[in-house]
Amino acid sequence: MDDLNLVVENTKKKYREIFLQSLEAIQNRINEIKPDGVVTDVFEKYPKNTKGYEWQKATLDMLLNDISKEILQKWAQVLDYRKEFSCKGCATCCNLACSEFSYEELKEKAKNGDNFAKQFTSIFVPYGSREEAAEIYPEYLEMLKDKGEVYFYHCPKLTECKRCSDYENRPDICRHFPDNPLDILPKSCGYYPWRKEVEPVVLMLHSMVEIIDYYKQNIPVDED
Ligand code: SF4
Ligand code: SF4
Repeated sequence: MDDLNLVVENTKKKYREIFLQSLEAIQNRINEIKPDGVVTDVFEKYPKNTKGYEWQKATLDMLLNDISKEILQKWAQVLDYRKEFSCKGCATCCNLACSEFSYEELKEKAKNGDNFAKQFTSIFVPYGSREEAAEIYPEYLEMLKDKGEVYFYHCPKLTECKRCSDYENRPDICRHFPDNPLDILPKSCGYYPWRKEVEPVVLMLHSMVEIIDYYKQNIPVDED
């Protein structure tokens, strides 16, 4: 099995590279609509009714409508492509789920209407200890050892022969797992090749969302 620490480090490095590429691509699109005669950048404070101010409004419109729509379309394609792959029944996802929240915190969230927490706490229970969880997937535990508090869970509905004893009634979080292409999956997972293949696109979409958010926060136009 790959050294998972290395996998995570490579992803971060890859993300930095992809982020810079996305930034350049977005900056080019902003510059393509820059009016003649405007010499400063899009974060400048321009008076209303000037070319610069109109450019800023057009930039935000392009980012929040055109480019955001493109991101959503691409995201839908990534999720659609997932249908080409299928679960191989290794049961790792039933046997080892992790969360930054303790069971009590998840219960509280569920009580406050958080749908994911509701589903999660309806099936998963905490492991008695970290060591117990480490027996299932040691590399995963090793990778998370410096990540602060992480809690590990398993589902008691999983039978000894790795079957779901309540398959017909399993919640959506099971039916749609993995719905985040950046989830770390074991190689035994039928969706592992999908995750590997779509990772660059997903990182690009992720970086674009971050960049758009930065522009949105920092382009000084008044809300009309
Ligand atoms: S309900 Fe079934 S599918 Fe969902 S985690 Fe439990 S055993 Fe797995
Ligand atoms: S880890 Fe992947 S292959 Fe294994 S049970 Fe979960 S979805 Fe199926």
